[in-house]
Amino acid sequence: MHVNVSPATLSRLRTALTGRVIEPDDDGYDRARAVYYGGFDRRPAAVIRPADAADVARVIMFARDTGIELAVRGGGHSNAGHSVSEGGIVLDLRDMRAIDIDVEGRTAWAQGGLTAGGFTAAVGAHGLATGFGDTGTVGIGGITLGGGIGFLVRKHGLALDNLLAVEIVTADGELRHVDAQTHPDLFWAIRGGGGNFGVVTRLQFKLQPLESIVGGILVLPGTAEVIASFIAEADAAPEELSTIINVMPAPPMPFLPEEWHGQLILMAFMAYAGDSEAGERAIAPFRALATPLADMLQTMPYSGMFASEEEEDQTTAVARTMFIDTVDRGVADTIVEYLESSDASMRAVQLRVLGGAMARVPVDATAFAHRNSKIMVNVAAFYERLEERAIREAWVIELSGVLRQSDAGAYVNFLQDESIDRVRAAYPGETWNRLRAIKAEYDPTNLFRLNQNIPPATD
Ligand SMILES: Cc1cc2nc3c(=O)[nH]c(=O)nc-3n(C[C@H](O)[C@H](O)[C@H](O)COP(=O)(O)OP(=O)(O)OC[C@H]3O[C@@H](n4cnc5c(N)ncnc54)[C@H](O)[C@@H]3O)c2cc1C
Repeated sequence: MHVNVSPATLSRLRTALTGRVIEPDDDGYDRARAVYYGGFDRRPAAVIRPADAADVARVIMFARDTGIELAVRGGGHSNAGHSVSEGGIVLDLRDMRAIDIDVEGRTAWAQGGLTAGGFTAAVGAHGLATGFGDTGTVGIGGITLGGGIGFLVRKHGLALDNLLAVEIVTADGELRHVDAQTHPDLFWAIRGGGGNFGVVTRLQFKLQPLESIVGGILVLPGTAEVIASFIAEADAAPEELSTIINVMPAPPMPFLPEEWHGQLILMAFMAYAGDSEAGERAIAPFRALATPLADMLQTMPYSGMFASEEEEDQTTAVARTMFIDTVDRGVADTIVEYLESSDASMRAVQLRVLGGAMARVPVDATAFAHRNSKIMVNVAAFYERLEERAIREAWVIELSGVLRQSDAGAYVNFLQDESIDRVRAAYPGETWNRLRAIKAEYDPTNLFRLNQNIPPATD
């Protein structure tokens, strides 16, 4: 259903709001509608940047009353293009980035438009941290509501495992405080259920003491032997160590030897959340796997894991996500073979060994149900021209199919705009039924539908 609203109706909304409304004829409209990923050239009727929760509530009521499509945006990194609408309105939280840190109590309340990098830098100044993902420009709202698998996942769990409470405007326009005691059903659902239940205006996190880490980047040759051994070491490592590896052709980066440019490498992002000596001991076996092509592992503040928040170029990629149980030599051979057979300007297989604190939370404690999953895999191929898309997609789908093992789950935050089956894979079994029942209670008309959608139960 496509709904148009008249300029007069939008103008009334503009007057009612404290924040900004950017319409197609306004300066900065093209920048305001752009999202992280390319390929979503959508023209919303307006991009609205609320100043506070009251503005958020007004926009939600406006969407409800007019029926116009509502896109909710935190950091704009949706892999599925969900934070921009064609003809609808974008509720962009970027002007709501305040953070209030209780250093003694080791908690922080942050507004929904803050980025992971912004949060990490602010709490890091006090020797504290919460783990989000691997990229500083991702919004804390989007990543946390879906999960949050990052550099502290084995030591401190998912981002949502460190969430203590939220303030959320639900489809009826009410601003609610939600935690384990107040609306516990909704608190369960928002921890994994994404943006399906309302717009989170503030999030309260537990902060972990973390003066420094041993971490950074280690680059090794991308051979099958190194890949399989790396995963075995990452699995056996103390849970203070979380790793993310990308197996890919070496980009022409200045810190990589020129003769390696274009050759397969294993680029590892590693973070040991503990003291330096133990960290050095934990990373020694990885350094010994092969002569490193680059070794930038060092003791540093945790915030050093995130590049500075510069504007990034838009990338356009096809990607699939899944979990697998093991990467033995045969699996590693397949990865190398496929990566070598593709001529995409960039293609990569990303592997993240999970476990540790994330796996100790009961499967049904939150709407993130993949506690027993062992290794997350993301397969991606970039493309520059639209005509290239089909061939890149076929490669990604074929390789994902070949790599699939017994774990049928999927991580919601890495899904693209795929199919209802894939959303079901993110919410297996009883999780799906429970989410649908809670959706029916808090969003019976599915106002929040531009997302990995959980339709309200209908009985
Ligand atoms: C480069 C890149 C790196 C990534 N790395 C990781 C990683 O290491 N680990 C990981 O777990 N994930 C990672 N992700 C996935 C990321 O967690 C999701 O894309 C997430 O949804 C992005 O959140 P956002 O706020 O930036 O995106 P947006 O596009 O702004 O939001 C995505 C969706 O989240 C919902 N949403 C966002 N904010 C709110 C809010 N305040 N209230 C209600 N709903 C909201 C909306 O439904 C929205 O459509 C990465 C993504 C990218 C593009």
